[in-house]
Amino acid sequence: MTTTNLGFNHNARPFLYGPEEAALCEALRSGYYNHSAVTERFEDEVARFLGVPDAVAVASGTAALHVALLAAGIGPGDEVILPSFTFCATAQAILATGATPRFAEIDQRTLCTGSTQVLDALTPHTRAVLPVLYAGRAVDLSDARPVLTARGITVIEDAAHAFGSFNGHRRVGTTGDVTCFSFGPIKNLTCGQGGMIIPRTPKEADACRRLRSLGIAESATSRADLTTYTVGGFGLRVQMPSLNAAIGLAQLAHFAQAEAKRKELWRAYAAALHDIDGVVLTDVDVDHTVPHLCAVRVLRGRDRLFRALRERGIGVGTHYPPNHLQPAFEQWHRPLPVTEQIGREIMTLPFHQHMTEADTDRVTSEVRHTLSAEAAR
Ligand SMILES: *Cc1c(COP(=O)(O)O)cnc(C)c1O
Repeated sequence: MTTTNLGFNHNARPFLYGPEEAALCEALRSGYYNHSAVTERFEDEVARFLGVPDAVAVASGTAALHVALLAAGIGPGDEVILPSFTFCATAQAILATGATPRFAEIDQRTLCTGSTQVLDALTPHTRAVLPVLYAGRAVDLSDARPVLTARGITVIEDAAHAFGSFNGHRRVGTTGDVTCFSFGPIKNLTCGQGGMIIPRTPKEADACRRLRSLGIAESATSRADLTTYTVGGFGLRVQMPSLNAAIGLAQLAHFAQAEAKRKELWRAYAAALHDIDGVVLTDVDVDHTVPHLCAVRVLRGRDRLFRALRERGIGVGTHYPPNHLQPAFEQWHRPLPVTEQIGREIMTLPFHQHMTEADTDRVTSEVRHTLSAEAAR
C-alpha cells in the first residue's frame, strides 16, 4: 500500500518511523500480549529518556490520570481543580474517582491555567490540581506552590500533549510533580493507545502498579513461578499491553525526529501567520516545547472561517469546546468568561509530522484568502 501525503486534509495523524511494524509482529509472535517484559522495557526506556527513577505504564492517558488520582488518595468528597479548556478525559478521570471537578480559568495568552487561576478556584475541599499543558507548553505554578504545599494539595500534571517538552532546563515529568502522559494515536509519541505515570516516590510507584493491575501485589512478570498471588486492595485492569509497548519503544528511539519536525512546522506557521489580521497564534514557547497543536484564536467569525476551510479540504479542528458548558459537567458550572470567549475563538490548524512546509503554506494562504474575501463583501 502506498502512503498518500494528505498533509493539510488531516488535523492530526499518527506518524510511523518504520520499525514499528516489525516490533509489533515480534511482540505478536512472542505470545505475550498483556503487560510483559516488553512493557517493563518501555517503562525503563521512558524513565531513562526523561532521567527519572521510575515510570509506570498504563492503557491510556485517561487511565494514567485516574490511577494517579487514586494513588494520591483522591476520592468522594474531594475537589480537584482543572481547566475547563481541556479534553473531556481530564474531567472524566476525576469523576471516575468519585471526586468533584472544580473548573478553573485559563490565561488568555497561554491558554493554560496558571497560579492566579488556580488560587482563584481554591476551596477548603481542594485536594488536587490538574494543570493541563495545553499544546505541549509547560505550566509554572511556583507562585501558588506555597499555598498548595501548606494545604497538602497534590499537583498532577495532565501532560498528554507535552511528552518531550521542557520546563525551564528540565523535561516535563522531572520537576517533582506527578506527571501523566498520553501515547494515544495522535500524541507526540504514540503506542496506538497508552499512557505513562511518572510517580514521585517508590511507594507511589508501587501503589500505581497495584491499581493498574486489579490490586495484585506481585508483578505479572514476577508471579510466573508462584503458586498464588496477593490481591491487596481495589484495582483496575488498565495495564499497557506489550503490543502497544512494542510500538512505543520503536517510536521513542526516533523521538528526536518528532521534536525537530514539530518545532519546524510550528515555526513555519508562526512566520506565515503573523501578519494575518484577526488571527492570533497561541504562543507555545516553542524553544522549550515539543508542540502538539497549532492553535489560533479567530477574533471574528470563527465558525464561518472553520466551515469555509473545511469545504476547501483544510483539516481544521476545535480543541477544545469548554467542559463547564457540557451537559455531563453542568452541575459544576461556574462563570468562566475567558474560557467561554476562547471557546468561541479557538481553531486548530492541521498539525502532524506528515506535513511539509508546502502544506503549512497552503493552509495559511487559504486562511488569508477566506478572510480577505469576507472582508471585501
Ligand atoms: C489525549 C488527552 C487525554 C487522554 O489521553 P488518552 O490516551 O486519549 O486516554 C487527556 N488529556 C488531554 C489534554 C488529552 O489531549
